[in-house]
Amino acid sequence: MIREIKAEKIKDTVKRLLLQANYEIGTDVLRELGLSLKREESATGKSVLQQIIDNHRIARQDRIAMCQDTGMVVLFVSLGQEAIITGGDFTEAVNQGVKEAYTEGYLRKSVVEDPLFGRKNTGDNTPAVIHLELVPGDRIKIQVMAKGFGSENMSRGKMLLPSAGVQGVTDFVIETVQKAGPNPCPPLVIGVGIGGTLDMAARLAKISLLREIGCPNGDIHYAALEKELKERVNELGIGPAGLGGRITALAVNVEYYPTHIAGLPVVVNINCHAARHAAAEI
Ligand code: SF4
Repeated sequence: MIREIKAEKIKDTVKRLLLQANYEIGTDVLRELGLSLKREESATGKSVLQQIIDNHRIARQDRIAMCQDTGMVVLFVSLGQEAIITGGDFTEAVNQGVKEAYTEGYLRKSVVEDPLFGRKNTGDNTPAVIHLELVPGDRIKIQVMAKGFGSENMSRGKMLLPSAGVQGVTDFVIETVQKAGPNPCPPLVIGVGIGGTLDMAARLAKISLLREIGCPNGDIHYAALEKELKERVNELGIGPAGLGGRITALAVNVEYYPTHIAGLPVVVNINCHAARHAAAEI
């Protein structure tokens, strides 16, 4: 049975989620920041973590952006194959939701029309980057991210040889975080995508940033890899805001997909402590 979903409803949902994401950090991020405050040994690191926690509290209370960089909008949309969108164009509805959220919510507009020539600001933070997949059912699940570019700029991908194995992946992740230093605004949430093709690995890395902190990968090998990577990253000593300390990562999340016999793609997508995302099903 086909279920009708109005484009207007999609627009309103995107708008609501983006305001929520920019004003209210997730409870999982807040919880991990609190635990990190207890674990951090550096006095400066502790002070930075406390300031980040206070900043998130003020943003939530006063309904203001938690960071001046309110990000480029990324959406992951799971569209039920028994749902039909009526009353308008899906992409237009999404971008109208972005426009209204960023205009009415006083969020910085950070998107330029052409990445190379002119770089003129679009003026309303559109367009969003939209990832769409078809799933069973008659509902639409929308997950939004407001992705800051201090951290996006520090992300990297590499096509490893299969023989590089776990060691090669680990070395690449650690090298990426080390090179990034203070630039991505630590403490970080680090997304790692392994397998598929280059583009699939990048997509997986981004998807992994949506996972709740404290929920390891369901596969025991990947869960162990996440734990090992987090420990190794936190031994780098970069610390909160890059001022030194134990807490460089709040989480390392890994997602994987089957790949070709000749390859081992890996992408590291870094997110900052303003790890903003929100989700709804309509
Ligand atoms: S990387 Fe994150 S915390 Fe740093 S400026 Fe950008 S959005 Fe803000």
